[in-house]
Amino acid sequence: MPRDGHGRIIDYLRISVMDRCNLRCTYCMPLEGLKFLPEESLLSAEEIGLVVQAATASGFRKFRITGGEPTLRKDLIDIVQRMRAAAPEADIAMTTNGILLTSMAEELKSAGLNRVNIHLDTLDGDRLRQVMRLSDLDRIMSGIEAAKQAGLTPIKINSVVVRGVNDEDVIDLAKKTLTEPWQVRFIELMPFGSGEPEEIAQQKGVPSSESKIRIEKALGPLSSLQTEDPSDESRNYKFENAEGSVGFISPVSDPFCAFCNRVRLSAEGRLLLCLLRDDEADLRGVIRNGGGVSEIKKSLEAAILTKPVGHALDQGIHASRRMHEIGG
Ligand code: SAM
Ligand code: SF4
Repeated sequence: MPRDGHGRIIDYLRISVMDRCNLRCTYCMPLEGLKFLPEESLLSAEEIGLVVQAATASGFRKFRITGGEPTLRKDLIDIVQRMRAAAPEADIAMTTNGILLTSMAEELKSAGLNRVNIHLDTLDGDRLRQVMRLSDLDRIMSGIEAAKQAGLTPIKINSVVVRGVNDEDVIDLAKKTLTEPWQVRFIELMPFGSGEPEEIAQQKGVPSSESKIRIEKALGPLSSLQTEDPSDESRNYKFENAEGSVGFISPVSDPFCAFCNRVRLSAEGRLLLCLLRDDEADLRGVIRNGGGVSEIKKSLEAAILTKPVGHALDQGIHASRRMHEIGG
């Protein structure tokens, strides 16, 4: 198992396959002024397969495909197949906004994807279009249903809570867990530094403690669930007799850096050592200079040794890449 310089086991790789998206969530992407990576600079399906092979040889056991919006990659099925071939025993999940999932769910499952996290900030259709701009509630709900039918389960729902926008909507999403086996996870909004466009920088998150109080006031007490995985960033709870569970991810009010087990691969093949800092290593350079699996593995392991101990938002240090470039 690869360990970083602070003794943490690092066995989880999140792979962004695309920096483009079909939505423009208010806290993630502005409507205008965006620049995207040229096609040729994205890692190909074959290159992604090589990185997964190297990571698996190094002891990685968990992978996540993300973006931008990963379902926009025309060769997504090929990517999943190559990842599965490179890591037959691994847990392979995908984070998506669900808009294009309905027609793809079965094929993704057959290609070897285990499960999906679907992004849904509110169950109110009008507010959804306001926060997840260009979105459509019916299409996301249909994507969730398709994922369920295809067995891409357990289904996790990611909801970012934004002050003055969807702070009250946590109640209806949490209520869904009474009847659906969803794992709804409320995420604190993370700031992404001084380079953020003004319309994004001015948005404020809601601390998880506040969302939890709001939910319990409306729906009754939540009991804490024992976590089997100490590196699970979500603190999980359940209502009595509920089908699903409610979780809180609190990178701002309760950072989980001490238990961090992950590194990220950007769409252009940079290994990012912390979501909220700029430390990185160029794996695409290794591959495109002729390096094979053992060279990639060596570079991966060397980079992991330099993983920072934690983020430093309280010292005003931010990542310069934006969330749609990193993948969350
Ligand atoms: N497009 C896909 C989606 O939305 O699920 C995958 C990529 S998106 C960047 C991954 C996750 O990041 C989403 O759940 C989204 O809500 C979350 N996210 C985006 N910007 C964020 C921010 N500033 N703070 C916290 N979470 C954020
Ligand atoms: Fe797209 Fe995901 Fe960013 Fe929303 S959070 S704009 S769906 S990448």
